[in-house]
Amino acid sequence: MSAFSPSTLQLIKALQAMPGIGRKSAQRLALHLLDKDRSAAVNIQNSISQALENVVYCKQCQLLWDEDICHICTNPKRDNGQLCVVESPLDMIAIEESMAYKGRYFVLNGKISPLDGIGPTELKLPLLKEVAATTKELVLAINPTVEGDATAHFILEMFKNTDHKITRIAYGVPFGGELEYLDQQTLFHAFTTRSDI
Ligand code: ZN
Repeated sequence: MSAFSPSTLQLIKALQAMPGIGRKSAQRLALHLLDKDRSAAVNIQNSISQALENVVYCKQCQLLWDEDICHICTNPKRDNGQLCVVESPLDMIAIEESMAYKGRYFVLNGKISPLDGIGPTELKLPLLKEVAATTKELVLAINPTVEGDATAHFILEMFKNTDHKITRIAYGVPFGGELEYLDQQTLFHAFTTRSDI
């Protein structure tokens, strides 16, 4: 017999569906919200309702935003000649924090993964072609994984017969890093993508 009521079990099940939350964590969270901090529970409830109501995909870059067009797409100071393709908004935030890039973005919100049923249409790649029509350079800031490489390869093929300059950000030795501690693949990537200085 369970020590959790049907409603508590339902909450645990909902929490457990979140990435990175296992059964024990879901149980602890549910108990915390119901027993220790009901105001936090109400706050989460309201925040989720508000976000679900307001947040949409930016019509141009696919970033989740509170308006149809996001703050980067409407910023006149951004370079319209460059479009950086990223897998997720988290990658976009990391690039923004590096202050290395001043162009615009296209957020895939995923990567090609046939096993999970994610193909070019799910990633809205036809829209990427549309959005990229006014840009000169496509910067692929896609992670160097099997799926990431497949996604980058697909995009490369998609733009094969266009005048776009297509670049992919370099991967390799981290700043302040030491070669002897790098894994083989990272070092291999660093060597194969070495550039002139
Ligand atoms: Zn946007």
